[in-house]
Amino acid sequence: MINGHDDLSLIKGAGPKTRGYLSEIGINTVEELVNFFPKAYKDRGIQRSVKDARDGEKILARAVLCQKGRTYYYNHIKKTVLTFTQDGTNFKAVFYNQPYRTNMTVGKEFILYGAVSIENGAVILISPQTEPAGKSEYLTEGIYSVYPIPYKSNVNQRTVVKLLRSAFEVFSPEEILPFWILNAFDLVSREKSLFMLHFPHSEYEMKLGPKYALVCRFLAFAACRTYRKNMLRPKRAEIIVPKKTDEFIRQLGFTLTDDQQKALDDVYGDFKSSFQMNRLIQGDVGSGKTAVAMLSAFAVSQSGLQSAICAPTEILAKQHCQKYKRIFENFGVECAILYSSMNKKERRDNLSKIKAGDAKVIFGTHALFSEDVGYKNLTFIVVDEQQRYGVAQRALLEQKGGSPHVLVMSATPIPRTLMLSIYKDLDLSVIRNMPKGRKKIKSFVVGSESEDRLYRFVRTTAEEGGKTYIVCPAIDDEDLENVEGVYRDAAQKLAGLKVLKLTGAMKETEKTKVMNEFAYGDCKVLVATSVIEVGIDVPDATLIWIKGSDRFGLSQLHQLRGRVGRADKQSYCVFQSDNNSEKTAERLKVLESENDGFNVAKEDLRLRGAGEMFGFKQSGTDNTLIDDIVSNEKLFVEVNKAAEKLFASQKQEDREFLDYLLKDEADKLDQIVLN
Ligand code: ADP
Ligand code: MG
Repeated sequence: MINGHDDLSLIKGAGPKTRGYLSEIGINTVEELVNFFPKAYKDRGIQRSVKDARDGEKILARAVLCQKGRTYYYNHIKKTVLTFTQDGTNFKAVFYNQPYRTNMTVGKEFILYGAVSIENGAVILISPQTEPAGKSEYLTEGIYSVYPIPYKSNVNQRTVVKLLRSAFEVFSPEEILPFWILNAFDLVSREKSLFMLHFPHSEYEMKLGPKYALVCRFLAFAACRTYRKNMLRPKRAEIIVPKKTDEFIRQLGFTLTDDQQKALDDVYGDFKSSFQMNRLIQGDVGSGKTAVAMLSAFAVSQSGLQSAICAPTEILAKQHCQKYKRIFENFGVECAILYSSMNKKERRDNLSKIKAGDAKVIFGTHALFSEDVGYKNLTFIVVDEQQRYGVAQRALLEQKGGSPHVLVMSATPIPRTLMLSIYKDLDLSVIRNMPKGRKKIKSFVVGSESEDRLYRFVRTTAEEGGKTYIVCPAIDDEDLENVEGVYRDAAQKLAGLKVLKLTGAMKETEKTKVMNEFAYGDCKVLVATSVIEVGIDVPDATLIWIKGSDRFGLSQLHQLRGRVGRADKQSYCVFQSDNNSEKTAERLKVLESENDGFNVAKEDLRLRGAGEMFGFKQSGTDNTLIDDIVSNEKLFVEVNKAAEKLFASQKQEDREFLDYLLKDEADKLDQIVLN
């Protein structure tokens, strides 16, 4: 018996040349060979009689070569024709640019597998694969594996299969899973599983073979996350006893929805617990997450402690400040703001108020955490719309205060299981229902022939006191609908209305001016890139017209749509696309009928695959893991429980297995990005 770490020289058929080729695709050892998994299974069926073959199907047949092949030119291509016989029926096989086929020995029996063409009533096999009958190793009946061999590689499917067959004759893969795990998941031994995975004989084996590998991948992932969670055990934190916040809510001008109230109760529970809060509020755009965060900050201020509200852009930071500062100050709670493009004097004033602890609620961007910012008693941090939240960021935040409570808000509806398994150390509050009175945003998909009608619609909207966003996929790329061009167009078509433009490339001060004009001034139409996607709140905006809609992902389009319908007025969203492909149409149609972000995300998941939606930043872990998790959710949940058991176990065998799982995975999973 040979060892998995041995090189392939002990495997029959793996000569130096073959080993060189395999090495090019990353296969050097016996373990690596048996861990080269198929990407698909196909079925050759059973050997059949060519007489019954139908035009266009593929068949597997056994036949005797009865006439030496002949090669001739056919449209500059070498065409070789061989004649075979099977049970008294003769048929031809045709090969292109394979003149060596004339070397096949007449009178010998072969296995053939290829596509059938029926010409003038006669069966012809087109470029079939062939193999001498009797010692057939590759062209077998039934299910076969297809390996992910890179294009242009010198290795072919047949070589891989033959080597695997010889490998299993001399090598038995060592068991790695503890017996109780094999049992818990109804698995067969690693050796049997690997054999089935490469050479399944039934549908059952096609599932059972790969299941072992899937459990192993899930276990490695779950173990790493659990390990992290244990490392980041909650720290002691300031106890905050929230006082009455009814009056603050009254000043906001509405009553909380049930889900908002529940989220707020969750936060207050954490505040009172004496342990550091680490919570995510997940809720669709406009569901009222920010309002919950402000109430929480108010509660903290009532204990004389500081909160920092971190927004992803300056525009948003200023907007939050503008909207909530007024209310805080009605209660004598002083606010401050910090962002990088601020002038020196203003910054100095704000810094000293923060340092002295006079400012209790501090709005800002990441500038909130730059080195020169000193807080008196930073106790609560809100990270708004933060889509890239990892362990690293959290450490950065914690440097500013001992162990502050952290609340992250996201509109990205990652499936719950995925969420909790990735961020095991995060608690989750979900705001599922929208505030009452919101009207469903009416959505339409249109082509460019509707432009004139749409401009008239923008005009009537303005006449009725509404505002319009026109979103373009590019700033000035000529091949796409771009802000510069559309802005010129709109200014002309909408003469008499104030139209402005906004792009991410503009200076921050300029952006703020434009945003203020649009939110509070007499600008009625804003032509913008998707910079307006995150969080901007202009309740008067009732129409959003998204050009080049096919350029955006579904969830992103839904986020954009969330810029309107933020008050009780009927709002509209127009998705313009001139891409007529069926797939695009199907995607956009989803948005016409579906207004709920969670359902949109579900459809997006179905159409795009989870791996593409929620990817790993570091390439060490491939995104197929995420796809596998989403499509095997139940198994994944069970594996997570098994991982917890492993951590609790005192048995030597379990400890060693855990070490093995954690060996090289731990760093890979640090950061996950939501695309
Ligand atoms: P999110 O941060 O989830 O996008 P916001 O907290 O910004 O949502 O709320 C969106 C809009 O709805 C804001 O104008 C906010 O003042 C308003 N709002 C929030 N909660 C309620 C509520 N319970 N009833 C009515 N309006 C609300
Ligand atoms: Mg918000």
